[in-house]
Amino acid sequence: MAKILFYDIETAPNLAYVWGQYDQNVVKQYREWYLLCFSYKWEGQKTTKVVSLPDFPEVYSEDPENDIAVVGALWKLFDEADVVVGHNGDRFDMRKANARFAFHDLKPPTMPMQIDTLKVARKYFMFNSNKLGDLGQHLGLGNKEATGGFELWAGCMRGDEKSWRVMKKYAKQDVDLLEDVYKRLRPWMNNHPNRALLDNRPDSCPTCGHYDLVRRGNRSTKVAQYVQYRCNNCGAYCRERTRLNSVSPNLVP
Ligand SMILES: [Zn+2]
Repeated sequence: MAKILFYDIETAPNLAYVWGQYDQNVVKQYREWYLLCFSYKWEGQKTTKVVSLPDFPEVYSEDPENDIAVVGALWKLFDEADVVVGHNGDRFDMRKANARFAFHDLKPPTMPMQIDTLKVARKYFMFNSNKLGDLGQHLGLGNKEATGGFELWAGCMRGDEKSWRVMKKYAKQDVDLLEDVYKRLRPWMNNHPNRALLDNRPDSCPTCGHYDLVRRGNRSTKVAQYVQYRCNNCGAYCRERTRLNSVSPNLVP
């Protein structure tokens, strides 16, 4: 079966010197951003997990800003996954992760296919807001955990245990919400990685992998017609690969 990974990363901010408070140029960068934690869930598994800096006490006690173990754990997940799902994952999470992989001299993982639910939301719908929390709320799927703002990030960087607990709760909820939003938007995606292929189950729904398909007329292109099905599990449509022999025009518009 295809391994589908839902994930989200949280980073520490850059630290920099500035001369004032408003609309500033950075005078000198003091320390670069690093990974604080990431949350993930495999499709079909119940638990959402969070991997954070304090989970590696040997590294953390020596250098609380060293993300090598967290980055390594994320690399392993990417390497294992066939498909990764993230909100703004294409532009943000994956590239941020790649930056840390390269920094720690990790070679590229066997790159999974990517689904970016932010891109999906923008492409097929016109919601008022495409932020994950707003989508979740609007679609009645729940909301993001409250973070209390920047103080939470500051607390984690100070090593405050309560802040880490809240951060983990927040990160976990993000991935739970991500999965729900993905499932709601999924049947509209017409370029979803082919589950039937990845699962090696040729007659299952190419979007969700279930077998409960019902005939829904034909789908036509300019030159061919195909038998079309609708999936009773996810609601997506699919078609047979081979054309119906009955129609084969010699002329096309
Ligand atoms: Zn389906």
